[in-house]
Amino acid sequence: MIKVAIIGYGNLGRGVERSIKQNNDMELVGVFTRRDPETVQTEGAKAFTMEHLKQKKGEIDVCILCGGSATDLPSQTPEWTHLFNTIDSFDTHAKIPEHFAKVDQVAKENQTTSIISTGWDPGLFSLNRLYAQSILPVGQTNTFWGKGVSQGHSDALRRINGVLDAVQYTIPNSEVIEKLKAGEQLELTTRDKHFRECFVVLADGVDAEEIRKEIVSMPNYFADYDTEVHFITQAELDQNHKEMPHGGTVLHTGITHENTKQVIEYNLQLESNPEFTASVLVAYARACVRLAKEKQFGAYTVLDIPPKYLSDRSDEVLRKEL
Ligand code: NDP
Repeated sequence: MIKVAIIGYGNLGRGVERSIKQNNDMELVGVFTRRDPETVQTEGAKAFTMEHLKQKKGEIDVCILCGGSATDLPSQTPEWTHLFNTIDSFDTHAKIPEHFAKVDQVAKENQTTSIISTGWDPGLFSLNRLYAQSILPVGQTNTFWGKGVSQGHSDALRRINGVLDAVQYTIPNSEVIEKLKAGEQLELTTRDKHFRECFVVLADGVDAEEIRKEIVSMPNYFADYDTEVHFITQAELDQNHKEMPHGGTVLHTGITHENTKQVIEYNLQLESNPEFTASVLVAYARACVRLAKEKQFGAYTVLDIPPKYLSDRSDEVLRKEL
């Protein structure tokens, strides 16, 4: 049995607890949290303090880090890789090389193994971009996200003065996707690829038109997109917009000879982004333990991992099912 610890218990942490129940070769040692463990409502797992985690060395094969990418993982992954093999879902794309270098150094110094930035993007989408671009070097790759909730954009809306609550959906432009699949060569801008749709709850007495203008012109988040804003009540938001669906498509269109078109499409439709991401983390946790057993210490990304290391089936069985 692979002994797993969850570090940090939010949406992803809960997803990992659920996923481990579906993987018969894994056993959950516990949830480790920075909060008072008594206040953390798990679905059966025991919750402990971080102090407790230090005493568990030797009882844990791999720690799955479920903190946020913005401020938790940049410090938590290197910190816990001192003592344990680790997995994280660090998704700030621009900072992955820096994060990798830090974790790699700690892992090599302490003879541990870490797989960083797993999940679906970065993660499974990164793998599919690499496969497509290696197989069809004459071609174009586009990634489309959604329809799904973007936590970062939803947070940006909630930070506006006068906004009580909000949810933002990223919606891919299906017309553009169809044109690409048909082999059209397109020069695409950010605005062409995605729309943004916002559902916003306002405080009493706030001018809706002023807020709409502030949203659609917000740099980095909305200014570069066509954005639609709907003002709704808190009750409507709670009833219709509290799930966390997501997904997307990696689409690569290429040619192999003159006009011979080839299309590679990888698509995810997720009812729960955190539950799916958690399932990816759990599969990579299995690979991490196998690498550590082989004394392959250091940091890795999904691009470094042999696919068979994700599986609990033997090489012989996998070859038979090839
Ligand atoms: P959450 O905000 O739900 O949880 C993050 C951390 O916050 C937890 O580990 C927990 O730490 C703490 N926390 C959770 N709930 C509470 C609470 N009620 N009060 C106080 N603290 C709380 O984030 P998610 O689980 O939704 O996402 C984590 C990260 O996963 C995201 O930042 C994102 O970067 C990444 N992600 C990556 C994807 C990919 O494809 N690579 C896809 C989806 C997400 P503690 O228990 O220690 O307090």
